[in-house]
Amino acid sequence: MTNVDPQELAKFSELAHRWWDTESEFRPLHQINPLRLDWIDRHAPLKGRRVLDIGCGGGILADSMARRGANVLGIDLATKPLKVAQLHALEAGTDNIEYREIAAEALAADVPASFDTVTCMEMLEHVPDPSSIVQACSTLVKPGGWVFFSTINRNAKAFLFAIVGAEHVLQLLPKGTHEYARFIRPSELAQWCRNAGLEMADTRGMEYNPLTKRYGLSGDTSVNYLIACRKPA
Ligand code: SAH
Repeated sequence: MTNVDPQELAKFSELAHRWWDTESEFRPLHQINPLRLDWIDRHAPLKGRRVLDIGCGGGILADSMARRGANVLGIDLATKPLKVAQLHALEAGTDNIEYREIAAEALAADVPASFDTVTCMEMLEHVPDPSSIVQACSTLVKPGGWVFFSTINRNAKAFLFAIVGAEHVLQLLPKGTHEYARFIRPSELAQWCRNAGLEMADTRGMEYNPLTKRYGLSGDTSVNYLIACRKPA
C-alpha cells in the first residue's frame, strides 16, 4: 500500500474526537454537508442505493446518506476517525451503514462493479496519487452508476481563500490542513475521470460568504468545487 501519506492520516486522527462537534475544526464539513447531500441525491436518488464513501473520516456524509435511505459502506485509512464514525452510527441508531479500514484500490480489486454510487469528498487533495483513487472509483461503480468528487482548485485565488483565508485569517481550519501543491484543477480531475472511463455530467462551485458565514453552490469553481460523473452503462 503506497498511495497514502501517513502524516495526513495522523492529522485527521489527532482531531477525530471532535469530528461531530459542529463548532470544531470540522464545522466547514458540517456546513457544506446539506448542500452536497442534496446535490448527490438530485443526480442519483439515494434511497435504496448501494453507496460507497471513500475517505469517509468520522462519517458526516456517509451517515447522512444512510439516513436518506442508502445502504452505505464508508472506507478510510485513518483508524480513529473510523472508530468515531462507528460510535456515532451506534449512538444515532443509523441503520444500513458499515465502516471499514481498507484502501480504495484494494477494495476495487476485491469487489469491482459493486456500488450504484461512489462518493469521494474533500479527500483527493490529501493523497499522493489522486488519479489512482479516481481509477479505483471507476472500477468500484456499477455500469450506469454515479461517481461524485469534491476538492480544491489550484490557482492564486484558491491559495488566498483556502489557505490564507480559511486557515490563517478566519481560522476555520487548523493551519497546515491543506497543502497548495496538492490542490487539483478541474481540468486535471476531468482528465483523470475520462482516462478512467467516466463521463463528466456536472461541475459546480462551492462558495463561502464570510459575511453570512454560509456556503452555497455556484457556477464559480475557482476555489472549492464538485464534479459528478457517470460510468457508461
Ligand atoms: N470525506 C469526508 C472527510 C474528509 S477529511 C467528508 O467530506 O466529510 C479527509 C479524509 O480523507 C480523512 O478522513 C482522511 O483520513 C482521509 N484520507 C486521507 N488519505 C486517505 C487515503 N489514502 N485513503 C483513504 N482515506 C484517506
